[in-house]
Amino acid sequence: MKRAKKSGRTEVYQTRAFDLARQQFSIETELRRAIDNAELTLHFQPICDLASGRIISFEALARWTNEHGQPISPNEFIPVAEESGLIVPLGRWAMDCAARTVAEWDARAGADCGVNVAINLSAIQLQRDQIAPMVEAALAANGVEGRRITLELTESALVTDPDRISQTMQALKSLGTTLAMDDFGTGYSNLAYLQKLPIDILKIDRSFVTGMLADRDKIAIVRAILSLAQALGMRTTAEGIESNDLAQTLAALGCSYGQGFLYARPVPADAAYALLADRNS
Ligand code: C2E
Ligand code: MG
Ligand code: MG
Ligand code: MG
Repeated sequence: MKRAKKSGRTEVYQTRAFDLARQQFSIETELRRAIDNAELTLHFQPICDLASGRIISFEALARWTNEHGQPISPNEFIPVAEESGLIVPLGRWAMDCAARTVAEWDARAGADCGVNVAINLSAIQLQRDQIAPMVEAALAANGVEGRRITLELTESALVTDPDRISQTMQALKSLGTTLAMDDFGTGYSNLAYLQKLPIDILKIDRSFVTGMLADRDKIAIVRAILSLAQALGMRTTAEGIESNDLAQTLAALGCSYGQGFLYARPVPADAAYALLADRNS
């Protein structure tokens, strides 16, 4: 009896593991095809100056609708892309598409449209690709200056090979790009890197911002991040701002920028340009 039960469980377990592996494999196969067939798109979410409400930047976020018409979340396909190495072509595509979009917005505005675009770089991508030459090539191909681009890195990028990352970041700075530390506060706890690396902006993770007004601990963490950034001469962006109260409190606490559904959800490039024309005029 006992043995039968045990082997039954093992079977269930193996079936689940098999299903998971199969699911992952099919996402990988479809994602490979999506990259080849240019089925991915970028959506753009405004980042606003908290004091004036003006849009200063847009974060480019990858979107994928599979062949069955189902949207797949980046929280699902980015990890698959990282494990399979597809993050390298995906990241190259995202960089090129973002630079092309800035050039298109400038062309429509008949001048510098006044915002830059932020692109996410994953830790695995930083390990596997030659990031600085990749960024430089995308800028050149689209006739875009480095200062129009912000690169968002996460703390996990710094863990494996700090010297290599440091060199990459210096090279990106010499291209004129802005560097932001994404999801700050959720990752690696050794803060010594903050003083050594050329980081311009700390993005306070959404988990500290959501519900902050009713949570003393979260407010304490946000205040600590803001004063750390100020002491180190860095600007700050709060993620996940969904209410006016939050925006006002964060502005009063000295946070520079805000991003969240209060301002806009991520939208296609045309809609983002319309937002810009509407709100910054
Ligand atoms: P992230 O870089 O931290 O991006 C912010 C995420 O928060 C986005 O989710 C955005 O839609 C969401 N968000 C923004 N404002 C609010 C808000 O007010 N409330 C709530 N609840 N959510 C908000 P998204 O687009 O699903 O992307 C998830 C993550 O996937 C990103 O987190 C980023 O780490 C990754 N990702 C997306 N596109 C790319 C890409 O092109 N390359 C890489 N390497 N990673 C990407
Ligand atoms: Mg980001
Ligand atoms: Mg983030
Ligand atoms: Mg995040």
